[in-house]
Amino acid sequence: MKDRRKRDINYLRISVTDLCNLRCQYCMPEEGVVKKRHEDLLTLEEIYQVVEACVALGIHKIRITGGEPLIRKGIIGLIERISQIEAIQDLAMTTNGILLKKYAKDLKKAGLNRVNISLDSLDEEKYRRITRGGNLKEVLQGIEAAKEEGLFPIKLNVVLIDELNSDEILDFAMWTMEEPIEIRFIELMPIGQAASWAKNNFVSNEFVKMKLKELIPLEPEDRSSPARYYKLPGAKGKIGLINPISSHFCMYCNRIRMTADGKLKPCLHSNQEIDIKQILRTEGTPSSIENVIKEAILLKPMQHTLNERDHEPIIRDMIQIGG
Ligand code: SAM
Ligand code: SF4
Repeated sequence: MKDRRKRDINYLRISVTDLCNLRCQYCMPEEGVVKKRHEDLLTLEEIYQVVEACVALGIHKIRITGGEPLIRKGIIGLIERISQIEAIQDLAMTTNGILLKKYAKDLKKAGLNRVNISLDSLDEEKYRRITRGGNLKEVLQGIEAAKEEGLFPIKLNVVLIDELNSDEILDFAMWTMEEPIEIRFIELMPIGQAASWAKNNFVSNEFVKMKLKELIPLEPEDRSSPARYYKLPGAKGKIGLINPISSHFCMYCNRIRMTADGKLKPCLHSNQEIDIKQILRTEGTPSSIENVIKEAILLKPMQHTLNERDHEPIIRDMIQIGG
């Protein structure tokens, strides 16, 4: 379905939980996270109903995210059901990779196509600090497991944080020399409770370009991807730069999001939300669900206002939105 800007909205990102087995500094507060009541979250059946309605409206690309999607009970079964919908062309997951060693095989078998894995440092101590307790070895084992199962292309999301990991750009980039992996440097977004911390630790992707002077720009394969891709001479893999703030890709945006508590978000950078849980639990017919999704698509803003003075700060933490 097309929105008001004639953009074809064909991509749904679903947050299946707002809980996580890590506590990344930019994503969630260290303490004081109030656990939602079970009944406040969409059931797996409700998520599936929304997917079906979205598919009826032309969505053919699905990403499962969170919180950490691999801690949601029954996630493999949900993926299996979604993968059996014929019209779905791409079914992917964003994960911190901690549990991938355990689940990569099941995910592949269930029909997941590929994974994006978040990894912000190759140094054990720094990784522990950024994630407030994570074990780097587990993620590296998870990446290996994803490779063994062929969850390709494997993309690594690296959020750059001034004092913590901006000295590791070259180390990450060198990874692409030997492996057909995509390393995507993401600019830190000022969202939720960590917004002012994020502003103080912001590193522009221009800094990456300065550090990697020999980057060769590649022709975009997918205009709706927020990443612009580059390659080091002779590299097997690619380097992506994601600049949600310094340059926006809104004119090519093709996505809507759904939170674990059943709110549709037409834009990541806006507080606007449309309650779909309520319809699922009252009328609940395919056409009533489709109508709410249509409403959300038509409410998509022309572009984000992050760079404008009167931009309203995003209230939810990223962990609740799903990235
Ligand atoms: N737990 C999974 C993971 O970490 O990959 C999925 C959810 S996480 C919210 C999705 C993505 O959002 C991750 O790649 C994470 O690095 C990114 N993210 C979270 N907070 C962010 C922020 N403030 N700015 C930029 N990226 C952020
Ligand atoms: Fe958890 Fe992912 Fe947020 Fe880190 S970025 S706290 S792994 S949801």
